[in-house]
Amino acid sequence: MSYLDNIFFAIILILGVGYFTVNVKKILRNIKLGREVNRYDNKSERWKNMAMIALGQSKMVKRPISGFLHIIVYVGFVIINIEVLEIIIDGLFGTHRVFAFMGAFYDVLIGSFEILAALVLVAVIVFLIRRNVIKIKRFIHSDLKGWPKSDANYILYFEIVLMSLFLLMNAADYHLQNVSGGFMDFHPAGSFPISQYIATLFDGVANGTVYIIERAAWWLHITGILIFLNYLYFSKHLHILLAFPNTYFADLNSKGQFDNLESVTNEVKLMMDPNADPFAAAPAGADAVPAKFGANDVQDLNWVQLLNAYTCTECGRCTSSCPANITGKKLSPRKIMMDTRDRLVEVGNNIDANKGVFVPDNKTLLNDYITPEELWACTSCNACVEECPVNISPLSIIMDMRRYLVMEQSAAPMSLNAMMTNVENNGAPWQYSQQDRLNWKNEN
Ligand code: SF4
Ligand code: SF4
Repeated sequence: MSYLDNIFFAIILILGVGYFTVNVKKILRNIKLGREVNRYDNKSERWKNMAMIALGQSKMVKRPISGFLHIIVYVGFVIINIEVLEIIIDGLFGTHRVFAFMGAFYDVLIGSFEILAALVLVAVIVFLIRRNVIKIKRFIHSDLKGWPKSDANYILYFEIVLMSLFLLMNAADYHLQNVSGGFMDFHPAGSFPISQYIATLFDGVANGTVYIIERAAWWLHITGILIFLNYLYFSKHLHILLAFPNTYFADLNSKGQFDNLESVTNEVKLMMDPNADPFAAAPAGADAVPAKFGANDVQDLNWVQLLNAYTCTECGRCTSSCPANITGKKLSPRKIMMDTRDRLVEVGNNIDANKGVFVPDNKTLLNDYITPEELWACTSCNACVEECPVNISPLSIIMDMRRYLVMEQSAAPMSLNAMMTNVENNGAPWQYSQQDRLNWKNEN
């Protein structure tokens, strides 16, 4: 590599990492638009969840075929990219296979990278077949039309290209390492259990041509990785990074436990306490009465719910287990998460376009993205939460939006309104007076 190459490499690296950093800052800024919620307790449990669910992929394997294939792609992709460190050092300092000094260990590393790359290729091809040929139901659902469908395929194509370039680069390198009398600085280093067979394609090809192929594959491989890194911002593939904080900050309470609005709880406690002073200041630490009950836009959700939206992998496991969706209702928990992310991105773009201030755009998450019909179709069964491989809770967003409909707009469905009136008047959901409660024992 010449000095010019090193400088060019440094520029590409700075641009690639720099643009990614700018976008990461936007994501963090958007997530911080959410309300505060305390998820900093019980750190050991949180680390354990992250290790088991994000790192260990424990929930993925509940569906063994896709889970196993996903683990191959995940492990392969992460481990193979250890080699990126070597590529970066080589690119910046003009060395070639700088870690080759590790000898036998280096051979094992490169050999295992190659085997993983081949397995990733197989897994990715199976994924493409499942999506586009077998057309598994959750991948052809109506909420995946357009960009989400293309995005899922682009990710798989990207991985095929990157793995192929990696193997091609190694094959050309292997060929040049074995040129009798040596070729430039291509000295024997690494073992190539897969690419040594690809290298047979270069038999009879001029060394200069093989060198150009090796360099082209090397440059395209690292440039492709930087492009892919920046593609994450626009893609559901962001989950490869956000699955970790998302599982760490997930709700640790049992699934059936709903959080109460603290301001409402305090109000009720006050009403039930005969000695309470209704004019006393709110107790320290208690919420002041919020400007709005529930949520009709993303700024009303808490920051973990917004992190959830960015983390959603759009796998559809939630929707395929949702009883409302299965029975033909309009609700899809995956769509709830996708809509929340789309609206959040829209709000973020609005802030960017208006010098850091959100200018009302006459749109809200409620109605413009998610309709009351979808929200009221939910049975609050928690199947979506149970199924989600990265501990997302579509239900918590649904509940907050329902709270808005009920408490701010009195827009509950008729049947619910009747039930709530009965609770208010009769202390029970039924339309009987309290005096008649024990009538059943007088029958016959
Ligand atoms: S909690 Fe609601 S959205 Fe989730 S699976 Fe059950 S019905 Fe569907
Ligand atoms: S919420 Fe979870 S289960 Fe549903 S699509 Fe997103 S990642 Fe998959």
